Amino acid sequence: MPLALSLPSTLRRALQAEAQRGAPNEVCGLLGGVQRGPLFQAACYMPVPNCAATPQMRFAMQPEAMVAAILALQRAGYALIGVYHSHPHSAPVPSAVDIAEGAWQATPYLIIGYAATQPRLAAWLIEGRSFTHLALI
Ligand SMILES: [Zn+2]
Repeated sequence: MPLALSLPSTLRRALQAEAQRGAPNEVCGLLGGVQRGPLFQAACYMPVPNCAATPQMRFAMQPEAMVAAILALQRAGYALIGVYHSHPHSAPVPSAVDIAEGAWQATPYLIIGYAATQPRLAAWLIEGRSFTHLALI
């Protein structure tokens, strides 16, 4: 079975709403859940403030808030199974910046992107400098 990210529809809608509220800046945060073999099952998300100097173009999770979010999802009984961010002006495809920074190796990246006006979701796994498309189920 190929790697896949399971994202319940309630989480999809909440993340899309969050991305729209945050536009024109990118929003970012963590996905909590469980990993069972090749399946990453998201159960919750934890928003983290984007502290990048140009938040319209990139994301950088505010470090203290990120640590607090990791602890909070662990307290809730979940593991960190992914990171998410939005692309307010483009498709949900890893940007050159995402690829260059590649900070979260072997961790699913969920991107909430805008093609025309509709947000769309896609998931990726970064390994080295390459991103592999992850099935989103
Ligand atoms: Zn990006």
